[in-house]
Amino acid sequence: MSSFKYVIVGGGVAGGYGAWEFTKHGLQPGELAIISKEKVAPYERPALSKGYLFPENPARLPGFHTCVGGGGPKGLPEWYKENGIELKLDTEVVKADLKSKTLTTDKGETIKYEKLIIATGAGVINLKDFKMPGADADGIYYIREEEDAAKLYEAMQKHKGAKVIVVGGGYIGCEVGAGLSLNGLDVTIVYPEPHLMPRLFTPEIASFYEGYYEAKGIKVFRGRLAAAIVQHDGQPNKIQCVRMKDGEELPADFLVVGIGARPRVGLFEGQLEMAKGGFKVDGNFKTSEPDVYAVGDVAAFPLKMKDGELTRVEHVDNARKSVMQAVQAIKAEEKGESIPEYDYLPYFYSRVFKLSWVFYGENVGDVVVWGREEAIKEGGKFGAYWVNDKKVVGAFLESGTPDDNKLMSEVARKRPSVESQEELKSGLAFAAKI
Ligand code: FAD
Ligand code: NDP
Repeated sequence: MSSFKYVIVGGGVAGGYGAWEFTKHGLQPGELAIISKEKVAPYERPALSKGYLFPENPARLPGFHTCVGGGGPKGLPEWYKENGIELKLDTEVVKADLKSKTLTTDKGETIKYEKLIIATGAGVINLKDFKMPGADADGIYYIREEEDAAKLYEAMQKHKGAKVIVVGGGYIGCEVGAGLSLNGLDVTIVYPEPHLMPRLFTPEIASFYEGYYEAKGIKVFRGRLAAAIVQHDGQPNKIQCVRMKDGEELPADFLVVGIGARPRVGLFEGQLEMAKGGFKVDGNFKTSEPDVYAVGDVAAFPLKMKDGELTRVEHVDNARKSVMQAVQAIKAEEKGESIPEYDYLPYFYSRVFKLSWVFYGENVGDVVVWGREEAIKEGGKFGAYWVNDKKVVGAFLESGTPDDNKLMSEVARKRPSVESQEELKSGLAFAAKI
């Protein structure tokens, strides 16, 4: 049995940023352990669906270990060693008993903690979860961890020019679809919704990206549900085509599936209060159990700017900031102090081909899109504002500079009142006046 003052379960984005934050507060050797199922030290997960798939000079570890994306140290295994942090890789926590403050790993080790941070992230939703016929065939790729991205990269190299069907029109569908196309594969994206990225984009915003993808030779099949994966006769497990719900069969050499993620909460279910599919936490990421914190994708935290509505965010910015908040709160509490509660401004972004968008705030209410027609004809910036109760609550921008993006974040943070939606059509000029 080993014992630590602090244990983080999960060596992903939050695990890496949590370690960095602890070191800023004078961490003593042997105080912190990070237990991670992955074989590699924490890294910036967003790279997997972007730079990792580039045909030339693809991003590879150790190039993108945390916390390089947030301006911090590059967390090579040596960095953890130098800072006296026990990094247990390739180790899964298989049992957690929060009453006795004990964890058990798949290696049979028992680990005791004083304070626990749960950072187990999310896992992919699998076509097998829907009992889709053929879902166990070879050649179906999901992408969550570095090992998955490596397998997909290998498939791209092996099947040069192959036909690939991307199932899902969310973040993975858009980003991996672009990566496959950059590698010269014949890409078709299929999704059941009427347009790409339906949870965030309006039809008008989505059609800009759909048009861009089609101009790159990617086929975009909107409103179409994949119903079965058909395998070759006599060649079990080899994919022949995807059968759509309407009966059409789309030939495919392999598939990439991005149909959502589910928070990995199983270990602690029944021991913690739940909300929104994750663990209910307070403004310092404390769960319902004393000395247990949950951060990143698994945390349902009170969103201050929305009157404390419990919110779960599956994006990297929140993974970084939530664990920093939790560590700061732990350290403050040890000194008998407190810190202000988490006051998060939701921030999402994506990059595909030469495009790059950001979104800040809330996507509720009416939407005013500006500059789209010009951007279609000439390229460049376009954006959108969401207006709720005569206040601008959300801001979206394509192809902004860092300064432009900062303006968007300020608009979403300040929530300016608007009398007429006309003034929003001036786009960046409106933001510059706030
Ligand atoms: P994760 O980073 O998922 O880390 C969880 C870790 O816990 C993993 O290493 C996992 O193996 C480990 N683990 C789980 N269970 C156990 C256990 N029982 N024992 C030990 N270890 C365990 N967000 C953006 O904002 N922008 C992007 O561009 C972007 N791109 C992305 C691209 C991809 C391919 C993916 C999959 C996600 C992307 N995201 C992006 C989302 C972002 O990466 C996540 O929100 C973020 O990684 C969440 O951090 P986390 O620490 O909560 O979980
Ligand atoms: P998303 O939730 O973004 O998208 C999944 C999409 O697939 C949804 O549009 C969903 O529709 C659709 N879908 C669901 N079932 C089917 C089906 N049977 N056939 C076809 N489409 C279907 O999840 P992703 O898988 O794209 O991403 C996984 C995780 O990774 C998320 O946490 C995401 O935030 C994160 N990620 C973030 C990135 C970023 O922030 N830039 C980049 C890459 C990943 P419906 O909405 O109706 O369920």
